[in-house]
Amino acid sequence: MMSYSGSGAATAQVAVAHSGGCYPSDFLSGNITGATTMLGHVALISRGTCTFRQKVANAYAAGAVAVVIYNSISHGGSAVFSGTLGAVVSPTLPVLCTSYMLGKAYAASAPVLHIVTHAALQAHTTTSNIIADAPGGDPSTVIVVGAHLDSVPAGPGINDNGSGAMMILEIASQLTELMQTTGGKQYSHLPSLRFCWWGAEEEGLLGSQYYVSHLNNTSPTALHQIVLNLNFDMVASPNYVRGVYDAQQIESELLDGLSPTKFEYLKNASSMIGGMFIEHFKREKLPYVNSEFNGRSDYGPFLQFGIPAGGLDSGAEGIKTDKERHMFGGMAKTAYDPCYHQACDTVDNVDRPALQELSKAAATIVSRLSAQVSLRQILAHQRNFAPYGGDINIGERRHLDQGHFSASSRTLKEMKLGLECK
Ligand SMILES: [Zn+2]
Repeated sequence: MMSYSGSGAATAQVAVAHSGGCYPSDFLSGNITGATTMLGHVALISRGTCTFRQKVANAYAAGAVAVVIYNSISHGGSAVFSGTLGAVVSPTLPVLCTSYMLGKAYAASAPVLHIVTHAALQAHTTTSNIIADAPGGDPSTVIVVGAHLDSVPAGPGINDNGSGAMMILEIASQLTELMQTTGGKQYSHLPSLRFCWWGAEEEGLLGSQYYVSHLNNTSPTALHQIVLNLNFDMVASPNYVRGVYDAQQIESELLDGLSPTKFEYLKNASSMIGGMFIEHFKREKLPYVNSEFNGRSDYGPFLQFGIPAGGLDSGAEGIKTDKERHMFGGMAKTAYDPCYHQACDTVDNVDRPALQELSKAAATIVSRLSAQVSLRQILAHQRNFAPYGGDINIGERRHLDQGHFSASSRTLKEMKLGLECK
């Protein structure tokens, strides 16, 4: 396999590119042999003259579903080689190398080839989390609002997780705008807000895992200041449900480092956060379902350190049931996101009503949580939440809590812009 080959599967007939495949015209119908078109075929190309990348890019542009490059005779008839494309041409396009002899045999008979590649990038790359603190607020009580910013290599990852990343960006920008008008000063008795865009979630929660363990190692006090984590990973699935993380599903085996007392706190406090989302959906008269809460997104590392968490998702590769179709519409026996982790997870894979409804819920809960005095005590059942849209003196924030955010048509408009400008 060529370095930077895509991962994919193809069963198709060989079509031989003219000359070395260095020019787009080498793949035109009149110039190829073995088949009448390159479209849907395995492009067979000889080595030499130009870069492998050029050959593969031309083949891909001509509609080839896989590429086989064969060695030149100067390397001996049976010598296999390997090379690199320098960068991925297409994440789903398999690119193989073979010997001169095999290449010539394929060229003569144009057989149907069955090609499967599983490519994994082993190059050492560096990535980052992006962390932004809103102005003001009590530094000893921090709410972390997070969404992962990366996608799988197979596609652009617009629903997973451009949707969540843009959503919290919009919440952050609107909240910050409000708080800047008052200098953030009057919020010193209220929780502070930290917005985090995690890197490398798809590689195994690397960004969020690093964040909490790094804090634990270098500044345990800063870790203890985090009172809770909200996570948003996929909030615009085309065949969506309104899923609320179900804290009852937290399993103690996943959290073996925690004492029973801490585990109980974690479960109860996380249930309270989930309860706020449920209360919101009930107010809006919108059905919801309990969603998996098994540690497989960026809230997982927070749970492991005993920090309660909550959040929403609109469904991934799971299949919508008949019951859910009755509740939410869409298509039963079909994945919530049929493009999950695929090349088709583009801007066309975003359901606007889902994005709007889940954004409204997220914005309401972020703003409501950030308006609670003594949030830590509330989560430990030592106090009650301030009533919904309550009368505590939170200035502009109260305005926000009462639906300013959700009522703003700006929300969706800017998200759309953000998603399309990627
Ligand atoms: Zn995701």
